[in-house]
Amino acid sequence: LRINTFLQSWNAYRNNKQIPELKELLDTAQKYNLRIEGIAFSREIVRKMPIWYHAEADQRIRTMNHTLASKCLKTKHIVRTVGNAEVIAKALLEEEHEAQNNCGCQKCTHLRQSVQCVHPHGCMTQAMKLLDTLPPKWDPRSEFPEDYQKKPLNDGEDWKAFDGRVTTGGELADIFRIFADKNITPTNELPKLKPDTNVNGRHLVINEIVVATDGSCKNDGNDNTRAGAGIYVEKEHPLNRSVKLPLYLGQSKQIGELTAVKVAAELADQ
Ligand SMILES: [Zn+2]
Ligand SMILES: [Zn+2]
Ligand SMILES: [Zn+2]
Repeated sequence: LRINTFLQSWNAYRNNKQIPELKELLDTAQKYNLRIEGIAFSREIVRKMPIWYHAEADQRIRTMNHTLASKCLKTKHIVRTVGNAEVIAKALLEEEHEAQNNCGCQKCTHLRQSVQCVHPHGCMTQAMKLLDTLPPKWDPRSEFPEDYQKKPLNDGEDWKAFDGRVTTGGELADIFRIFADKNITPTNELPKLKPDTNVNGRHLVINEIVVATDGSCKNDGNDNTRAGAGIYVEKEHPLNRSVKLPLYLGQSKQIGELTAVKVAAELADQ
């Protein structure tokens, strides 16, 4: 069940036996470091990933291809994706399900009749074992940032709401980045962005503040261009800042604007 070499952990031929157009495609992808990258992905995307040879799964998934249950999952249950496996594994959580292949629960009966599976419990268990090889970022059973990150407020008349959501949505094609940095290995941990509102059993109120930010640039285009960033809350407020941009950041109004937003977000978080 090799569907896509970029989504799975098998390698396509790279030698001259490969179809020239495909070889060129694979070589280009490697040369410019095409890879899956994103802070978090939507559950919809995570579910669309092929489960067999899943590229981000623990290596042990590669040894789980040829068991009796895996063969049944492939040929009878037609399991292809993470989402397919999730649906089958879910039946294990049903209250009326019993942990044996002659279980007479609704789901097991259905599997026996609809796909002629003779060991539904074994297949459900195997589907769960497959899911258990997925790191949190790729496991649809995890709590994802999309579960708790809210859509930002609507823009005001003279201000724009910052959208802090980190989830990549859309199609599987949208999870790829090209010209990725070879020196950085993407992490498969989920970012912990959930605000901690429950400290020692007490409910914390999250305070909101309104901050004005701006970037500035003097002598734009000259050798002695100097850029800065400003943050203003209200008169004499301790978070007010004026920032001189360090030279290594580059000197432009745009970099000043971005720096102001970054510093304001960091200060407001403390
Ligand atoms: Zn079977
Ligand atoms: Zn059952
Ligand atoms: Zn089965």
